[in-house]
Amino acid sequence: MTDRTADVVIVGGAVMGSSAACHLAQRTNFSGQVVVLEADPSYQTCASARSAASIRQQFSSEINIEISLYGISFLRDIGTNLAVSGEQPVIDLKEGGYLFLATPDKLAILEENHALQTKLGADIGLFDQGGLSNRYPWLTVDDLSGGCHGLSGEGWFDGYALLQAFRKKARSLGVDYVGERAEKIERTGADWCIHLSSGDRLSAPILVNTAGASGGAEICKQVGLSVPIHSRKRCVFTFECRETLPDFPLLIDPTGTYVRPEGAGFICGSAPAEDDDTDSSDFDVDYNLFEEHIWPTLAHRVSAFEAIKPGAAWAGHYDMNLFDHNAFVGPVPGIDGFYLALGFSGHGLQQAPAVGRGLSEIIISGGYETLDLSPLSIERLWSTTPLVERNVV
Ligand SMILES: Cc1cc2nc3c(=O)[nH]c(=O)nc-3n(C[C@H](O)[C@H](O)[C@H](O)COP(=O)(O)OP(=O)(O)OC[C@H]3O[C@@H](n4cnc5c(N)ncnc54)[C@H](O)[C@@H]3O)c2cc1C
Repeated sequence: MTDRTADVVIVGGAVMGSSAACHLAQRTNFSGQVVVLEADPSYQTCASARSAASIRQQFSSEINIEISLYGISFLRDIGTNLAVSGEQPVIDLKEGGYLFLATPDKLAILEENHALQTKLGADIGLFDQGGLSNRYPWLTVDDLSGGCHGLSGEGWFDGYALLQAFRKKARSLGVDYVGERAEKIERTGADWCIHLSSGDRLSAPILVNTAGASGGAEICKQVGLSVPIHSRKRCVFTFECRETLPDFPLLIDPTGTYVRPEGAGFICGSAPAEDDDTDSSDFDVDYNLFEEHIWPTLAHRVSAFEAIKPGAAWAGHYDMNLFDHNAFVGPVPGIDGFYLALGFSGHGLQQAPAVGRGLSEIIISGGYETLDLSPLSIERLWSTTPLVERNVV
């Protein structure tokens, strides 16, 4: 058994843990040792590797919009932000925009969200039924009264490449990645003592929980914190379409079903019905969801999707925050040296740049220096003041 020490231990080395590690290591006022514990260095099953990897400004809460505005600027400059020895990462960012569609009963909400998004600087166009029909001739608009399209600053990218770019940059700056699971966590004086799967122990005064759907809630439990974070399965289906549909955006149907281009084809998905959306950790694909709900919905919205060729599919897990579908980020009052970035509820990949940066600020300087992430503090759980986000996909 080996004992070692570090200044910061990050549990979970996928996109969030690696962004935090990278931002910590980039700071000029910090030269401490950062260790990232990652139970599965192949990253086969983590959300970061199974994501639809898209970024949008079309949220309803100010903090989520601000986070994504920073996110897109970071992704656009990823080559310079995360270059290692002159080698620039490529994440294949496509700014095709989200197209949120609204039925008459939801138009007022769409307009309200649009007003907030544009006030904060997001480049979102609002279109009435006629405008939608002119812009997207392939779209069935009979039951729609409007839609919002991200004209720039929204789109999709290679999420796995983003995770690897953060990881590579962090390692180049001296961050140590250890391919082991944090099995047990104890408090020993001013330090956290983390028992690893090998039997080794690692101690540090600062512990950051970025263990996602598969481990985040359990880590919290071990330090005496109860969080309403649950692992919820989401399936992604690929298909090819006979017709060419140029400049197709990431379309969000009023039912919540989404579809976007991927290579020469498309990917799509939808949350299961509420009653079927139970805690889950398996990776079985729910093909019924595609056959019975997703495909009929898409074929109604875009008639070209009546004739498609279904392809591969996969399942991943959201770290779903059942309290308000937003992440808990930052320090946990009353638990010294314990930090969270958990509960992203399906929008964590795009939030990784801002959240990693914010964590590095608050850990080292004791406060947020750029974007104030305190609206994401866990204190809102305790005061039962949810951060309501109406656009959860
Ligand atoms: C199908 C799907 C579609 C999505 N689409 C989008 C999207 O379009 N846009 C977007 O922004 N987000 C999307 N998301 C959400 C996004 O992928 C996640 O919010 C984000 O990847 C979370 O990153 P993370 O690093 O916090 O967690 P994860 O990627 O889950 O990583 C957690 C890591 O912690 C490790 N770990 C767990 N327990 C331990 C332990 N005890 N010790 C050591 N290591 C441990 C795991 O092995 C894992 O690698 C999607 C997610 C899914 C599943």
